[in-house]
Amino acid sequence: CMTKKPHCSYCREQELLLQPMAKQKNLDWQLAPAPESKDHFKLKEQYELFIGGKWVKPKSGKYFDTINPATEQKLARIAEANAADVDSAVKAARKAFEGPWGKMPASERAKYIFRIARLMQEKARELAVIETMDGGKAIRESRDIDIPLAAAHFFYYAGWADKIPYAFPGKQTSPLGVAGQVIPWNFPLLMASWKLAPALACGNTVVLKPAETTPLTALTLAEIIQEADLPEGVVNIVTGAGATGAAVVNHPDVNKVAFTGSTNVGKLIQRSTAGSGKKLTLELGGKAANIIFADATIDQAVEGIVNGIYFNQGHVCCAGSRLYVEEAVYDEVVRKLKHRMKSLVVGDPLDKNTDIGAINSKEQLGTINKYIKIGQEEGSDMYQPTCDLPGKGFWCRPTLFTNVAQSARISQEEIFGPVLAVQTFRTMDEVLQKANNTPYGLSAGVWTDKGSKIFNMTTKLRAGVIWANTFNKFDPTSPFGGYKESGYGREGGVHGLGTYLNLN
Ligand code: NAP
Ligand code: MG
Repeated sequence: CMTKKPHCSYCREQELLLQPMAKQKNLDWQLAPAPESKDHFKLKEQYELFIGGKWVKPKSGKYFDTINPATEQKLARIAEANAADVDSAVKAARKAFEGPWGKMPASERAKYIFRIARLMQEKARELAVIETMDGGKAIRESRDIDIPLAAAHFFYYAGWADKIPYAFPGKQTSPLGVAGQVIPWNFPLLMASWKLAPALACGNTVVLKPAETTPLTALTLAEIIQEADLPEGVVNIVTGAGATGAAVVNHPDVNKVAFTGSTNVGKLIQRSTAGSGKKLTLELGGKAANIIFADATIDQAVEGIVNGIYFNQGHVCCAGSRLYVEEAVYDEVVRKLKHRMKSLVVGDPLDKNTDIGAINSKEQLGTINKYIKIGQEEGSDMYQPTCDLPGKGFWCRPTLFTNVAQSARISQEEIFGPVLAVQTFRTMDEVLQKANNTPYGLSAGVWTDKGSKIFNMTTKLRAGVIWANTFNKFDPTSPFGGYKESGYGREGGVHGLGTYLNLN
């Protein structure tokens, strides 16, 4: 700084950047604790399988615990479905498809889906708190994003149920039959809604397998489905780990498989369903490029970067985990980003002020830490704010890597945690090449003042979803899905209907 004046705002910012969080807290202010109450509902001690509209004990006789990753405390015991349990669930779904659900007029089907949406809204607070306790995400996100969006998907597809022929003019439409659906732990209820709502609207019946670490909101949804009086067997929920998922996917009487999860498991499923006649959609991993041009509104872009990668602990398939900054604004972006990272609150996910909650599981924390070590060994520069972390639970500070090579593993492989790899670029062609140079193609972001640049980039980026001057925005009317190793098929919008129908 040339001014050498004590009140220079640039120097003051630099000085603050160099101070540990605790000292900053003393200098400035601290947020008072604002924990969300969990007294308005009671979890059961033990959850059975939801098959044929009833809670049934698993034939396997086995149960597993689901824990709160922020405290490591057990929340409930969950039934573990084996192949025989999955078979019962598929039989119940088939019976419902050939019985009441298959024969029901579409306008009646719509009423049930609408009723589920209303009940989800009524229980929104309970669902949000359960989501946060079971998965570790900040209550602000489950309350403001996951649960409202989940209900919005049911509302949206309830509207489509009796209008499906209009979505596919000139085609004969009919439901596929029984859908086997397997979902991950990062957006447990939202992923369940993405899968269930369009399947039901199209007249299919379902066997759904939630992730082992986050079964509780899907099981609460089963209670809602019971309350909505959905005919028995239309929705069946079988809990368990990978083997339960494999039993759902490989069951011979399943007509459609919808999977959201890792690319590795997606490839296994693709192999095992090949030649089976099952219709398949895969929503897999990602390594999104977030691209900042020099003419972008930098403060807004920095907020978008934070939202893109640190939101939901980076447990987002479409997270903006690679940042490309035009050279002219690189110093400014990195300086402002570090400054913003210092104010992120990491801690109790039930606290309404928390920005970054707990990592979903010990295994996932191990994976993230492994990549942080790899990033350092590869020679990139790491930055983490020095905020305090709670003693128990699984935590990771927001992490930034600069001086990253395009070939670095942290820039090529999905980490699924709050870890950002930054690179620079000079021209549009250069950044397009770099952004497209990954096996994935799920999403991307472009920040610029110029509409023409946005159109140029969005037509050339190989990604299913591209945000312009925003990031991580979702809507039930908008299709979502990937290119390349990020999977195929689309969920959401009219496109999401086509994958649950025979179109002749
Ligand atoms: P995962 O290990 O592939 O698990 C996903 C689901 O599949 C879980 O319910 C899992 O059960 C189950 N499963 C595991 N092995 C299976 C097998 N052999 N056959 C059938 N099912 C099996 O993925 P994850 O680590 O939970 O989730 C993170 C991944 O999901 C990331 O790669 C992320 O990018 C991706 N994702 C993609 C989207 C998208 O829309 N493209 C959205 C969200 C997440 P258990 O968990 O109980 O073992
Ligand atoms: Mg859990």
